[in-house]
Amino acid sequence: MNPAPDHLSCAEFQARLAEMIGSGANVAAHPHIQQCELCRAFLADLEAIAQAARELFPAVEPPDDLWENIETAIKKGK
Ligand SMILES: [Zn+2]
Repeated sequence: MNPAPDHLSCAEFQARLAEMIGSGANVAAHPHIQQCELCRAFLADLEAIAQAARELFPAVEPPDDLWENIETAIKKGK
């Protein structure tokens, strides 16, 4: 009955989770994750999904040098 100032309910925390991950925050170090088994499991699920997505779409944004290599290959001809 005496929650910390940054106390979040699980629903509030989970609603912010994707945003926190997207902003590059170290979500695993968040006090809520440290204390809440439920949200640790939820994070593990999210990470499994993110990992699967990376495997399905390994290069959504190809690095610049990839395009340079393609351009060089085109200029060289066949
Ligand atoms: Zn929680």
